[in-house]
Amino acid sequence: MKVLLMLLSTGVSFLFLCLVFRPLEMAFPARPGQRFFRPEWWTDLLFFLGQYLLWTSLVISLLVYGGEWLARVLPHDFRTAVASQPWWLQVGEVILLSDFFVYWGHRLQHRVGFLWRFHAVHHSAEHLDWLAAHREHPIDTVYTMGLINLPAFVLGFPLETIAALVAFRGIWAIYIHSNVRLPLPRPLRVLVGAPELHHWHHDRARDAGNYANISPIMDVLFGTYVCPDHEPAAFGLSEPMPRGYVAQLVHPMLPRTRKPRVTGKGNALVEPRSSRAGATAE
Ligand SMILES: [Zn+2]
Ligand SMILES: [Zn+2]
Repeated sequence: MKVLLMLLSTGVSFLFLCLVFRPLEMAFPARPGQRFFRPEWWTDLLFFLGQYLLWTSLVISLLVYGGEWLARVLPHDFRTAVASQPWWLQVGEVILLSDFFVYWGHRLQHRVGFLWRFHAVHHSAEHLDWLAAHREHPIDTVYTMGLINLPAFVLGFPLETIAALVAFRGIWAIYIHSNVRLPLPRPLRVLVGAPELHHWHHDRARDAGNYANISPIMDVLFGTYVCPDHEPAAFGLSEPMPRGYVAQLVHPMLPRTRKPRVTGKGNALVEPRSSRAGATAE
């Protein structure tokens, strides 16, 4: 019975998202002419189904467990002081802190080789639309959701409020991946995120910028804001990644062979930087 309910809610969610985002993609396409069943659509559908049927309940259990642990270890006086502030101040603090955490957490994913292994799965999408938003390794999901929700847990927000924030961020994430281009008026572009900003984050360059999610203000503050008036030439990776759902789930956990680099001076071999400097970008 539980499985049937899960299947039903997954089907309803799929239809709902189709009905909301497909008309938007047809009316304001970032890439006109991109078909609904574009290449690797079925892979992204499997990521969608995996998230709804397998991973989301696991991620929620881990978040609840982490939140309960934090509630036990944080001083009671601190949480009482937080809870005694006006509600609007608490909401402002949570949004600002979670944007700060997720910005730096995301930037680290692009910098640190071990984190990039998992995050690269998300960046392997060569066609962006609302469905491609679901291409994410479950370890990446746990990492990102943990960072996003850490401030709310630390500040002692109720679970219902946290769930509402998660739902809003989920819909927003789907919107910024959709094949939509709806540029905002200039002054708003540095305050409110948009698909065109996240599309540039999916440029083939690994350090393309735009690491923030809801508001690009952190990118503006830390110098990674990119907003050209056209779409990138191509999305995806500049490194190998296997195709297919299972292969992409397994790929980050496989051992990497370190290829020695040949310097320009003679034929001396140098070790890859990662083996000399610890956890640096691969
Ligand atoms: Zn990224
Ligand atoms: Zn993305």
